[in-house]
Amino acid sequence: MRKKIVAGNWKMNTTPAEGVELLKGIAAQMSEVPQGVTMVVAPPFTHLSMVAEAAKGTGIHVSAQNCAAEAKGAYTGEVSAQMIASLGVEYVILGHSERRQYYGETSETLNKKMVQAYANNLIPIYCVGEKLEEREAGKHFDVVRSQVEEVVFNLTPEQFAKLVIAYEPVWAIGTGKTATSDQAQEIHAFIRGVLAEKFGAAAQDTVIQYGGSANPGNAAELFSKPDVDGGLIGGASLKAGDFIAVAQGFKA
Ligand code: PEP
Repeated sequence: MRKKIVAGNWKMNTTPAEGVELLKGIAAQMSEVPQGVTMVVAPPFTHLSMVAEAAKGTGIHVSAQNCAAEAKGAYTGEVSAQMIASLGVEYVILGHSERRQYYGETSETLNKKMVQAYANNLIPIYCVGEKLEEREAGKHFDVVRSQVEEVVFNLTPEQFAKLVIAYEPVWAIGTGKTATSDQAQEIHAFIRGVLAEKFGAAAQDTVIQYGGSANPGNAAELFSKPDVDGGLIGGASLKAGDFIAVAQGFKA
């Protein structure tokens, strides 16, 4: 059976103190998370250390939202994968559409970040997804295929076995517009098929999360689909009760 992972991407929200409070709020309700669902939170860099410390013993895993493409050195403002891993952080989100869109991340950069993530034993949550105009032009399969081939196909089978993928249609992120569960299933199954072209049967074990305005009201429907193995949750991860309720979508 594939793992189920629900991850909260806090983006540039919460102060360190608020982040620790949010973590504690989630921890207090962890007994309500259905068995077998892995819970991950991704706070900003400034409170990664405090949140990772507070998460110890709670069953909650911690992710960074990004990491540097280089190992170390004169890269002002960057945070290396080694620094992140040294805090006990286990995951790193790579290729989020906001980073592709606002910070010009390309497959070339993301390949370098992947190298850094794996070199430091971080599990990448690699984001793919098409823009609205690409979906309207019927190009979503091609866009997602390229995003997978240009980065994921460079991994070794051992690295691939650890990878998590998040399918996030850009038109659904933070917009309140969710992909229908059928749209999600269609493209998740497509992604799994592309992964299988390179990695064979191992693709059956890859966790493919859905992201894009997932919330307590639509999570159960999305998670009912066979190739939707969890969610990467933005807005609804900023309230402990909502984040837990999204994870409960797996129970319904
Ligand atoms: C995200 O940023 O990964 C995301 C899915 O955001 P939201 O849930 O707010 O659409």
